[in-house]
Amino acid sequence: MTLAVTLLGTGSPMPAPDRAGPATLISTGEGDDAEHYLIDAGRGVLMRLAAAGLGAPNLTAVLLTHLHSDHITDLNDVITTRWVMTFTETPLTIVGPVGTQKVVDHILASLDPDVEYRIAHHEDLNHRPPVTVIEVERGAVTLPDGQGGTVVITCDQTDHKPVEPSVGYRFDYNGAAVVAAGDTVPCPGLDALCAGADAVVHTVIRKDIIANIPMQRMKDTLDYHSSPEEAAQTAAKAGLSTLILTHYVPPMPLSGTEDDWRALAAAHFVGAIEIGDDLHRVEIAPSQP
Ligand SMILES: [Zn+2]
Ligand SMILES: [Zn+2]
Repeated sequence: MTLAVTLLGTGSPMPAPDRAGPATLISTGEGDDAEHYLIDAGRGVLMRLAAAGLGAPNLTAVLLTHLHSDHITDLNDVITTRWVMTFTETPLTIVGPVGTQKVVDHILASLDPDVEYRIAHHEDLNHRPPVTVIEVERGAVTLPDGQGGTVVITCDQTDHKPVEPSVGYRFDYNGAAVVAAGDTVPCPGLDALCAGADAVVHTVIRKDIIANIPMQRMKDTLDYHSSPEEAAQTAAKAGLSTLILTHYVPPMPLSGTEDDWRALAAAHFVGAIEIGDDLHRVEIAPSQP
């Protein structure tokens, strides 16, 4: 078994009826022993996870690329649902850039009334949501004992300024490696993660469209995201076999303009280009057996 990528949410801050907010699942398989890593927790993440046949208790860890609201909107739901649907105390590990602990502390504080109601109401629930936060900058990501273990996770700095810090993650398993870039422009940290990997999951915005929208607040987003062309250049530079695009801005209609997006990337990258709707799944085979 190799790594599988499931695009749980292919949307962005702009609400779209058919696309959940940014969230990607990286799994080592489908059986009971499989590890499941959730990258970002955007709008509707647990609905999409349920559609993939999984729930919050199945998550090995949550890894945040940055603290933009659209990427963490439903983190509170992951924390609460994991807590109330797990019958032996199983800490939820949340990995993220510096600043994650503070955000999680505030989310937990906002959940205080709910936590008190449930502890008062359920005799067998006598602990608060157990959450472990690990803040990372670059290098190896080490999860607490007993969590994960078969996937080697590394991270590096990405460039989403003025959102600082932001990080990307690389997952190595059974000879395959996939990178979750998050929101970033092309940068050395992302290049380092991609070197020798097989695939990258990259968030993108259509700069050719957004640049022509007469609204400064939309145009402001141009300078800290990659276009499909730039994501393709990053994938090409690293010699990857697969480029997986997600976080479509503006929201792509279902079975609509997919070919336009693919053509923009294909001008810069000869490998496989995966573009899909929520729940699109890609198996990552090692390019070097
Ligand atoms: Zn962002
Ligand atoms: Zn974003």
